Amino acid sequence: MGAFSDLMGFVRETEALKQVQGRQEWDQETMMPRGAAPQRAEEMAALERVIHARRVAPELADWLEEAEPEDDVGAAQLRELRREFERAKKVPAELSAEITRVTSLAQGIWAEARAADDFSAFSETFEEVLNLQRQQAHALAGSDGDPYDAQLDDYEPGATAASLGAMFDEMRPRLVALRAAILSSGREAPRLQGRFDEAAQLRVSEACARAFGYDFDHGRIDKAVHPFSSGSGLDSRITTRTDASDPFGCLYSTIHEVGHSRYEQSVSRDYLLTPIGRGVSMGVHESQSRFYENQLGRSRAFAGWLHGRCRDAFGDFGITTAEAFHAAINDVRTGYIRTEADEVHYNLHILLRFDLERALIAGDLTVRDLEAAWNERFEADFGLAVDRPSNGVLQDVHWPVGLFGYFPTYSLGNVYAGCLFDAMQREVPEWEEALARGDATVATAWLRTRLQCHGALRGPKETIEHAVGGSVSAEPFLAYLERKFSGLYGL
Ligand code: ZN
Repeated sequence: MGAFSDLMGFVRETEALKQVQGRQEWDQETMMPRGAAPQRAEEMAALERVIHARRVAPELADWLEEAEPEDDVGAAQLRELRREFERAKKVPAELSAEITRVTSLAQGIWAEARAADDFSAFSETFEEVLNLQRQQAHALAGSDGDPYDAQLDDYEPGATAASLGAMFDEMRPRLVALRAAILSSGREAPRLQGRFDEAAQLRVSEACARAFGYDFDHGRIDKAVHPFSSGSGLDSRITTRTDASDPFGCLYSTIHEVGHSRYEQSVSRDYLLTPIGRGVSMGVHESQSRFYENQLGRSRAFAGWLHGRCRDAFGDFGITTAEAFHAAINDVRTGYIRTEADEVHYNLHILLRFDLERALIAGDLTVRDLEAAWNERFEADFGLAVDRPSNGVLQDVHWPVGLFGYFPTYSLGNVYAGCLFDAMQREVPEWEEALARGDATVATAWLRTRLQCHGALRGPKETIEHAVGGSVSAEPFLAYLERKFSGLYGL
C-alpha cells in the first residue's frame, strides 16, 4: 500500500492545482478586468510549469511501477495515471513548448483572419500548427501506431478512426435522407418575433438550470462570450450568453452546459481530486450535455413547460401554442455554422470535419488546398455555396489551437445520448410526465446513478455499456431522429 498511497497523495495535490488552473481560466472569461491580461498570462504560465513538472516527476515512474491497487477503484486510478504519464513521456519537452507557443499565437491570428474573412492571412500560421500536430501525432503513435488514432486517444480513449468511420458511414445515408425529406416537406417552423429582455432571459435560463437539477450550492452561472463549463466536484460552474433577438441561444446554451456541469457535480465524492473524479471522455461528456439539451430540452413534454415560462417572461412573441413552440425549438434549416445547427444537420457538419482533418494529418490534403476542399464538400453535402471563410473553414477555433481528433467526439456524444435515451425511456417511463411539469430530475437521477456518479471508473465505451446494459450502436440515435422529425414535419 505504501507506493500506492504515496502516489495518490502526490496526485491529489496535482489535481488540486489543475482545479485552480481551471478557475483562473473561468475568471479570465467572466470577471477579470481587461487590463490584467499580461499579468494573468504570466500567472498562468507559472502555474502550468508547476503542473507540468509534477506530471513528469521522476518519482511517478517508481510509484507507478510499485503501486498495488487494492480494488477496482485503485486499478482505475492507476489506468488513468499510467495513460497520462506515458503520454507525457512520448512527447519531447521542446515539441510541447513549441506547440504551446505557436498555438497561443495562432489563436489571435486566426481570430483576425476570421474577422477579415481571409483564409490566406491564416494559412502560413496554420501550416506551422498542423506541422507540429503531425509531429506530435507521430511521436504519440510510435513506429507502428496510427497518428490520427493517437490524437483521438487524447479526447476519447479507445476510439479509432476505423471504428468511428464505420459508425459515421452508417449514419450518413440516413441523415442525408432525413434532411432531404424534411426540406421537401413544405413545412416551415414558426419563428420568434420581437426583442427579448436580457434580465428576463437570464431568469428563465436559471429556472431551466433548476429544472434540470443543477446544484447552485456547488456551481454558478455567469455570462461569457462563449458558453462553457469549468471545474469538477464541489465547484463546477457554467457560463451562458444572451442575444436580444433570440432567447433560445441563451436557454439552450444553459441547458447544454448544465449537462456538462451536472456530470462533474455528480461524480462520487469518494473520487474528489483524483484522476477518476471527473467525466471520462469528451464523447461521454457531450452525451450528457446533448441529452439534457436535445432529448429532454427539445422534447414535446418540456416544450409545454418552457413555452409557459417564456410567455410569463417575454409576453407575446408570436408563438401562441405549445405545439408551435415545440416546432420552433426544433427548426431544421440549412446553415453554415456548426454551433447553430439543428439535430439533423449537426452530424453532417462533424462528418465533413472528420474526413478533412484525417486527410490533413495523413498528409493527403495540404493547407493550401483546404479552403477549396471545404467549400466543395460543404456544397455537396448542404447544397449551399460557402459565401465567406468565416462561414466556412475559419468558423471553428479547434484546428487553429491544434485540436485534431476532437470533432468526432461531438457525434459520438450524440450516438451515446441516443443509447442512453433508449434505455432511460424503458426503465423510467414516468420521466415524460414529470418533465411536462418542468421537473427533469426523474431523467437526470437515472443518468446520475447509472453513469455520472462513476466518473472515469470505466473507459468511455464501457461507461455507456454499463449504463445502458448493452452495446453501443448508432441505431437508437438514428431511430430517435427519424421518429421525432417525422412527427414534426409530417413525413
Ligand atoms: Zn458540449
